[in-house]
Amino acid sequence: MPAESPDFRLGTVLATSFTGTLSERYGDAVERIPTPQRLVDWLAVSGLAVDSCTTAQLELARELRESIHAAATAAATQEALPAAAVQVINDRSAQGRPAAVLTPEGKRRWQLSSASPVADALSVIAADAISIIAGERDGKLALCASPTCQAAFFDTSQSRTRRWCDMNTCGNRQKKARFNANHRKTLD
Ligand SMILES: [Zn+2]
Repeated sequence: MPAESPDFRLGTVLATSFTGTLSERYGDAVERIPTPQRLVDWLAVSGLAVDSCTTAQLELARELRESIHAAATAAATQEALPAAAVQVINDRSAQGRPAAVLTPEGKRRWQLSSASPVADALSVIAADAISIIAGERDGKLALCASPTCQAAFFDTSQSRTRRWCDMNTCGNRQKKARFNANHRKTLD
């Protein structure tokens, strides 16, 4: 894989997995969908396969991503939702016609139209964001405790006390930082 295409960090919630395609927003930001092809790849692993995507569609996707990030951050901190972000989320939601279909195995799958599959995929993501921001699902929006990350994530733990967007990256880094700080203290 080329160096400019970092791996995806996939969670169980579609909307926050999508906002996670840009990480370390308050540090050295890592763009995980730098090209239209990487958006195609991300959509494929997220159950929203499309054949291709244009640069304009990638820009729409990134605008949706940052709008979800802004609205989810406001919701997590109980501030008023930014109107511009809400508008983008609603526009993307309205401009697709995805169909939920039931598979023979009893699972839900999204069927995208052949005419506008990318718009349909973005619509699915926007609707997912709406359902978590509106508080319709069992869980709580929270912000990652890493100062360089502060990603919005959806906490579905029993106690609702999850602190990191991702245990393998932010959680571990913080643990290591604390270990090093303690270690230095004992050396002093
Ligand atoms: Zn994080």
